[in-house]
Amino acid sequence: MLSDLITSLSANPYFGAGAGLIGIGTALAVFRRTSQYGLIFFRRQFMITLEVPNNDISYSWLLQWISHQLRDSSRHLSARTTLIKNDDPSSRIQASYTFVPSVGTHYFRYQGKFIKVERTREQMINSGVPFESVQLTAFGQDRQIYIDMLEKARDSALLANEGKTLVYIPTINEWRLFGQPRRKRPLNSVILDKGILENLINDVDHFLANPHWYIDRGIPYRRGYLLHGPPGSGKTSAIMALAGHFDLSISTLNLSQGTMTDDRLQQLLSNVPEESIILLEDIDAATVGRHYEKEDAIRFQGMKPLTLSGLLNSLDGVISTEGRIIFMTTNYIDRLDPALIRPGRVDFKQYIGPLTADQTERMLIRFYPHLTRDEMNEFLKQIEQLTDNYSKPLSAAQLQGFFMHNKESIKHVFENIQQLYGS
Ligand code: ADP
Repeated sequence: MLSDLITSLSANPYFGAGAGLIGIGTALAVFRRTSQYGLIFFRRQFMITLEVPNNDISYSWLLQWISHQLRDSSRHLSARTTLIKNDDPSSRIQASYTFVPSVGTHYFRYQGKFIKVERTREQMINSGVPFESVQLTAFGQDRQIYIDMLEKARDSALLANEGKTLVYIPTINEWRLFGQPRRKRPLNSVILDKGILENLINDVDHFLANPHWYIDRGIPYRRGYLLHGPPGSGKTSAIMALAGHFDLSISTLNLSQGTMTDDRLQQLLSNVPEESIILLEDIDAATVGRHYEKEDAIRFQGMKPLTLSGLLNSLDGVISTEGRIIFMTTNYIDRLDPALIRPGRVDFKQYIGPLTADQTERMLIRFYPHLTRDEMNEFLKQIEQLTDNYSKPLSAAQLQGFFMHNKESIKHVFENIQQLYGS
């Protein structure tokens, strides 16, 4: 019976063709599956891959280094544009461009081997920051090739960063490099009242030079600084200059912005890049005057916004073997909770006030080095009169802005001095 059925079916041309197609399809599927397994087996046995995610410090170094390896071989590049911050508001904005391999696949040769580069990017849900990674694949099994590459990438990045200060900003729970490294701010470009900058330098120097003092006494090796005073007096500039002087980067966090929560701050502060000053700007905004409205519940996605105790815990949790320096700035020291600035959290407080006559004189000499003594005295006299008239002290930022508008000559300075309070 069954044999009759098979015979009659195979005699049917439609059925025969269908069975043929099914057979071919099955064979193809088997072939595809086998070749996939074969490829996986081949990759596992004979190839070595390395994945570097964008939250790893080596990521940007590696991308930059790869773009040098690709040179002219890849025409698919992404541009990274950095605006060069210029203190002179009247001058043209400048930008610098670097090229890195674009998302996709690229190839280059290294130590006689072909290296495949796959750069991928995924949009992360809930955060505007895409997740990126770069994957390298090479023939062989020796991971030394990747160690060599990463070291080369790091060395060339460090060489390129010599004389520069790196600034890190937070993403969700991690830090990422903000723009291109900036030229180190020279110490003598920050003009503070007599002795202030020198005291700060000596204190940081002493701290960095004496880890054993802390270790022997079982005290966390960290030091907190608070710079307070009116806006535009040079607090942030002084910290930038200190970072440059001690060859440290800056990891900066503005607690008044965004959606900071206790957990997020804790995560960030336990994760700060090595050899980096932690800078908490406008620390007063962290815990005062906050009213959490309905929309905050959506913004914070049900998580509790930053609390004072969360902030204190995060600060106390900052422990590092290489010496952690935390700078906080505020324009309103009276708004800070005493617990935040007690010794151990803030060990060094410094008021940075409005311009003194001595600072004004030093800024004047810096901008107009050929000034005569008489011109200087005249300028100081006029400034004194103006500040009396307005009953409002001048900030260094205001004076700097005014000098920049009148940089051609001291003649312009005297002509326009009435505009000082407007600039
Ligand atoms: P703050 O942090 O006190 O608000 P910044 O350091 O951000 O002030 O200064 C703002 C601008 O004014 C910067 O461009 C900086 O160069 C200039 N500036 C402010 N204070 C000084 C200072 N004491 N010496 C030199 N430049 C200053």
